[in-house]
Amino acid sequence: MKYFGRGFNFSQDGPGNRLVYHLSGCNMRCLWCANPEGFSCEGGKEITPSDIVTDALRARAMFFDGGGVTFTGGEATLWHDELLETLRALKREGIHTAIETNGTSRRLGELLPFIDYLMMDFKHYDSDRLKAFTGVGCEAVMDNYKMLTDTGREVHIRIPLIHGFNTSSPEGFASCLAAYDTAHCDFEFLPYHEYGKGKWTEEYKIQDGFVPKEVLGEFHRVFREYGLKIKHT
Ligand code: SF4
Repeated sequence: MKYFGRGFNFSQDGPGNRLVYHLSGCNMRCLWCANPEGFSCEGGKEITPSDIVTDALRARAMFFDGGGVTFTGGEATLWHDELLETLRALKREGIHTAIETNGTSRRLGELLPFIDYLMMDFKHYDSDRLKAFTGVGCEAVMDNYKMLTDTGREVHIRIPLIHGFNTSSPEGFASCLAAYDTAHCDFEFLPYHEYGKGKWTEEYKIQDGFVPKEVLGEFHRVFREYGLKIKHT
């Protein structure tokens, strides 16, 4: 498999201090993506599952406060077979594993037994709208969300908020998400930022994506009203 970024990060990519791999390639093209350099599976450096395990064992002393290894991207699940092998091997070594995914993999369930902490995006409940801004509809994400809630699997749902894309109806989000058993879910809002804008080589199409404070407050209020647990990382 290939990766385009590797480094340590504390608490934002799963619990504790973590070794984070950004695997190359993504099946989405979110217009606000902060890591456009990772769009292609062709870019980046080659690495094998055993390279990662060796790297993780060397770094073990750094995994304080419940840390471990996180795979993000791009979209890490595009490397399904290699990722599965890597996660299995890390679990055999007793290393805590986490994945951050856009939720579109139809084979996510196969990875779950080897993932200790799952972070999944939920960018929109309206498939046409999601497709217009990311190139991919929401059917697989909804199916995965349903599967996770049906099975009582713990999941941290991340909702990027982008003005002009998905901030007009907090009710729409909350009612869609709360229609399932969310006892084991928590939710985080990620307000729009432009840290990755300068890395875009194609035209950057988001205009005025920043989310007013009142709108963010409204999302918090409505989610609380629906009994959805909000988490900050
Ligand atoms: S899913 Fe994530 S990595 Fe892929 S394009 Fe969207 S923001 Fe970028």
